[in-house]
Amino acid sequence: FTNFPYTNILVLGLAKSGTAAAETLLANDKKVIVNDMKATENDETVVNLKKMGADVIVGSHPISILNGIELLVKNPGIPYENPIVVEAVNIGIPVITEIELAYHLTDGPIIGVTGSNGKTTTTTLVTEMLKESKQQVKVAGNIGIVATEAVHSMSEKETLVLELSSFQLQGIEKFKPTTAILLNIFEAHLDYHKTLDNYKRAKFNIFKNQTEADYLVYNADDKSIADEVRKAKSNLVPFTVKSKVKTGAWADSEYIYFADDKVISRQNIVLVGEHNLENILAAIAAAKLNGATNDGIRTVLTTFTGVKHRLQFVGNINGRLFYNDSKATNMLATQKALRAFTQPTILLAGGLDRGNEFTDLLPFLGNVKAMVVFGETSEKLKQLSLEAGIKTILQSEDVAKATEHAYSISEENDVILLSPACASWDQYRTFEERGDMFVQAVHKLK
Ligand code: ADP
Repeated sequence: FTNFPYTNILVLGLAKSGTAAAETLLANDKKVIVNDMKATENDETVVNLKKMGADVIVGSHPISILNGIELLVKNPGIPYENPIVVEAVNIGIPVITEIELAYHLTDGPIIGVTGSNGKTTTTTLVTEMLKESKQQVKVAGNIGIVATEAVHSMSEKETLVLELSSFQLQGIEKFKPTTAILLNIFEAHLDYHKTLDNYKRAKFNIFKNQTEADYLVYNADDKSIADEVRKAKSNLVPFTVKSKVKTGAWADSEYIYFADDKVISRQNIVLVGEHNLENILAAIAAAKLNGATNDGIRTVLTTFTGVKHRLQFVGNINGRLFYNDSKATNMLATQKALRAFTQPTILLAGGLDRGNEFTDLLPFLGNVKAMVVFGETSEKLKQLSLEAGIKTILQSEDVAKATEHAYSISEENDVILLSPACASWDQYRTFEERGDMFVQAVHKLK
């Protein structure tokens, strides 16, 4: 641990990150109390942590455990209204997340990625671009890999790429990425952050500790971001889909550039969608700043089919292009997916009925030549298709059947897109399960 003056530490919440945080602290000779509401004495993690020397309190949150505590490591999911957190803040105990701990355990470069949307895609892109450029790199954070665990086995030469949520960023003290990426800010998670201002502040934390030696890659097309980043001490590196920039990443209709450097021809890129162009520009900027080569970047962009279930290219079967966008559980996401294509499209949609109408999809159905519906919202979507003047409307019992039906009515050069605009829970446990079913059905067609 460097610059870490705390000895008595309370870890609140025992999920994956809490357990890793407690283990890391114990391994570094700290005195650790762990508190979790849901865990029980016999849980394997609890038993293990006790063996390692932690004091573990389960089943309640007694305020008295704050006695003598100098630092609270909070699971990002625990709200700041939790009585222990409230009391800790009142008496001046710093409240951090596990990301801050990871920061004190690493000396190498860190690329931190945040935004309301596009985090996982951009994080994956940067990581792969560096790997393909023969660099040593580890990925962690909100992407499902605990940061304190990832840093354990890291050498100084390695770059750590961290996907960062607003929850994680709200709990930082000294953490700073050497390269930050700020993608976009939409209204989200207001149940947790209460106001849009609080939410934005958490996101802007990504650059608050940066210095003149660091870089901040930011979305120059988002005015609230472009205004705010002027407060940063770090070097500003814009990305934009709207104009040419001298220092950052930008695109014209044919190429993507980093400053004056022509990096890749857009027609060779597998990822589709205007939103993914933004993610690609941000990733290229960060990757180039960290030593990626154009060859490495090209290898990734000509092969990467997308993060699973997010407008992921599944394959080309007899000239039909299949895309899995099962993560699209609302209309906004499906609108985005539909905007990505100019070809005739067969849309597979439907799922849990939340009581809403689907009229917001109407303006986006211009290229949709056929609709295959399934699930609870079938009737509503059929009605919508009629209103949109779509001639071919089919109903299927599930996604696998819908895929077969779509193929049977398709022609060469059609896009066959699963972008349901609904949650999956009427028929599937998760959107992942629904997307996997689609991918399997596509592979069967071969
Ligand atoms: P996150 O990790 O932030 O949830 P993902 O990369 O997993 O983001 O993408 C999730 C969804 O967010 C995508 O399916 C797409 O609908 C939307 N999205 C992705 N990137 C962007 C972007 N740059 N701007 C707006 N929406 C985006």
